[in-house]
Amino acid sequence: MNWHGKRVTVAGLGISGVPAARVLRALGAEVTVVNDGDDEPARAQAAELEKLGITVRLGDGATLPEATELVVTAPGWRPDKPLFTAAAAAGVEIWGDVELAWRLRGPDAAPWLAVTGTNGKTTTVRMLASILTAAGLRTAAVGNIGVSLLEAVTGEETYDVLAVELSSYQLHWAPSPRAHSAAVLNLAPDHLDWHGSMEAYATDKGRVYEGNTVACVYNAADPATEELVRAADVEEGCRAIGFTLGTPGPSQLGVVDGILVDRAFVENRRERAQELAQVSDIRPPAPHNIANALAAAALARAFGVGPAAVRDGLRSFRPDPHRIELVAEVAAITYVDDSKATNTHAAEASLAAYDPIVWIAGGLAKGATFDELVMASARRLRGVVLIGADRALIGEALARHAPEVPVVDLDRTDTGAMSAAVREAARLAQPGDTVLMAPACASMDMFANYNKRGEAFADAVHALAAEHA
Ligand code: ADP
Repeated sequence: MNWHGKRVTVAGLGISGVPAARVLRALGAEVTVVNDGDDEPARAQAAELEKLGITVRLGDGATLPEATELVVTAPGWRPDKPLFTAAAAAGVEIWGDVELAWRLRGPDAAPWLAVTGTNGKTTTVRMLASILTAAGLRTAAVGNIGVSLLEAVTGEETYDVLAVELSSYQLHWAPSPRAHSAAVLNLAPDHLDWHGSMEAYATDKGRVYEGNTVACVYNAADPATEELVRAADVEEGCRAIGFTLGTPGPSQLGVVDGILVDRAFVENRRERAQELAQVSDIRPPAPHNIANALAAAALARAFGVGPAAVRDGLRSFRPDPHRIELVAEVAAITYVDDSKATNTHAAEASLAAYDPIVWIAGGLAKGATFDELVMASARRLRGVVLIGADRALIGEALARHAPEVPVVDLDRTDTGAMSAAVREAARLAQPGDTVLMAPACASMDMFANYNKRGEAFADAVHALAAEHA
């Protein structure tokens, strides 16, 4: 592709737009960045880009610049934006950041091992990178994880293989990428306001399997993921590989007597299984996290990694903050921060890992309903403390399905509410219980992001510990 003089509109400043604009400009394209916001940080970024000869239009992300030949969009921009309607009407292609990275990768580019799913992506991609590193491969965890895929494929550094996290938004805007192998970890309703329907969301997730060459990894406990494999158009010889928390069948990875075993990438898989690691090698050893480890192991095995490296990689893996993170034990009560549980599916997984629980929940529901979550978790609940804007939705589900569980409704959305919530939870809890902050909601009604929410929880727990010291 000859980029010289090509008029490209980049939609959105930010972690994908800025590198996209720079790379395209360096290739000789005439780049215009359009951005809805016009605040101080945006102006600072714009000033930097303008020095490179890039045009930046702040405060108008809706109008398509004259004579645009290609739009490159930040993944989060909704497909129904006027900018895209105008582009479609003019017959102009729209690429996301992942599409751009795929098209710009060099001839010797590293193959991609891709991970998507509603929950567990970041954890799985980090586990995968840890395993690949243990195998002596040059790799990086990139994509939706906060490290630019575009920079990884166009930068100086060379890799043997990339562990790529892809969000449903990114997949929506990326028709071309072809991974070596890919996994869909699970599929539960999320971001439906953006995608329009569950079908559209699933279709976008399923794109990760398109054109896979070696393996399509699915979750045997989630038939929707296997369905996506069936629907995908893959390369001849590409295999469907399942992972299960139970005993694996042929072409699956699973668990037998506390050991992760592989019955997919072994010779004579009808009769043999290869031991990979112990469940106790995985932190935290919660069921959903073992599933993540199996998916990471499946992708690594598809790439030819040996069993010892799988074990070593899983052993040296450390979870990111705010993902089922043990904060402290105070008066024989354990406090766990799962602020990253921003939807019901994630919260259900962490609620399944403890018993009995005092649950701190609430925030922005993003259109979710809570009946299923409450029904699945009710018998483990010692009590519940509700905070945040949409707490009444959870309160109503509790009243319907768990009327006997004591609920404290804090009726607060200020930042200080977390410290009150921790105090209420401590009051409800008994020795041996776990206080679990897994809000099943987004944080933006009360906090800048889920990190800040987790920090507020940890601060409150540490303050409590200091009083008990
Ligand atoms: P993502 O990148 O998909 O948001 P993370 O690895 O950051 O996923 O985990 C987000 C949250 O989802 C965790 O805090 C945990 O509560 C939950 N979670 C992680 N793995 C799974 C899984 N396999 N199934 C269900 N929930 C999960």
